Amino acid sequence: MPLPTVGQLSPPRSARRWLPKRVAFTKDAYAHSYGRRIAERVTNMGLSVEVLKGNRLSGLRGKDEKETYRISKNTFALKLAPPGEFRLTPIPPSADWQFHLAKGCPAHCQYCYLAGSLSGPPVIRAFANLPEILDNTRLYVQPDQAVTTYEASCYTDPLGIEHLTGSLAHTIEYFGRQADQRLRWVTKYDDVDQLLGLTHNGHTRCRISLNTDMIGRRLEGGTANITARIRALRKLALPKSDGGGGYPIGIVLAPIMPLDHWQTEYAALLDAVREALDFGVDLTFELISHRFTPGSKNVLLNWYPHTPLDMEESTRSQKRNKFGGVKFVYPKTQMTDLKGWFYERIGAQFPEANILYWT
Ligand code: SF4
Repeated sequence: MPLPTVGQLSPPRSARRWLPKRVAFTKDAYAHSYGRRIAERVTNMGLSVEVLKGNRLSGLRGKDEKETYRISKNTFALKLAPPGEFRLTPIPPSADWQFHLAKGCPAHCQYCYLAGSLSGPPVIRAFANLPEILDNTRLYVQPDQAVTTYEASCYTDPLGIEHLTGSLAHTIEYFGRQADQRLRWVTKYDDVDQLLGLTHNGHTRCRISLNTDMIGRRLEGGTANITARIRALRKLALPKSDGGGGYPIGIVLAPIMPLDHWQTEYAALLDAVREALDFGVDLTFELISHRFTPGSKNVLLNWYPHTPLDMEESTRSQKRNKFGGVKFVYPKTQMTDLKGWFYERIGAQFPEANILYWT
């Protein structure tokens, strides 16, 4: 099939369901009733389950970085969330708190932010003590707020592993029962049918991460393509009476990159979204420009040595955080141009939407 030209979107292509070559449960994860539920689910998919003698997973290191990457991205580990996971941390501007269903992701995005935030081989680990993780979130309800918000996708793409765990559905239904708690999560997958029938009571905002068709094709390996993601967004938002999920939805435009023809490419994307959302929607936008750190660049170049991703420090500005860490972001004038363009365009095309932030 010929590649789309500038300003065109590819025909829809769903992500392939991830089937890991190795599924390993730690001893304690396998002993947990929720862990055992995941084991049954995985076995029913025709995958074999290995139960470790203890709680440490080994055998992830290959002879070089490339092999370690390959082994890790084919390994699904189930473990109990350690005590540190029960001390939630704030995640401005996205939500009041973050908590984690899993860490690691089966996709292969060449800019992946996990490269800078998770250390060690990029194995995909899901937590088997989900009921305790969810109960713990109640301790963080802000008494002075009508609702407290929680982000569940800081270190994983929860939909990418949902067919194996069922944890996202469980979490959505849990939040559906909490009057004062709201859930947010984001994905680059499109396998949303498994979420459409859930009782969520409007307490979960499902967000889809979008970008230009070209960035999706060149940099986001293993994900659903952009057109398939837009279809998934429509399904999530359509009222239940029309066969959809009836969810509040969000679009995370990330990472925004001012590549050649960026206005034409992003305009085509926004046009396609507008066309798909041709009914009343509860919609938010989050706008995140591309950034990298010296550490994430290093890891990404090991994982993707031939990446076309631009990580040239000399064309960027440095931004320091309060701990002295450095991020490379686009220079101020470029940021102002980009931000202005997106705010104007989204404001005109999506008057019902709320732009939550630009960063
Ligand atoms: Fe990373 Fe998200 Fe891509 Fe997964 S989908 S590889 S978490 S950027």
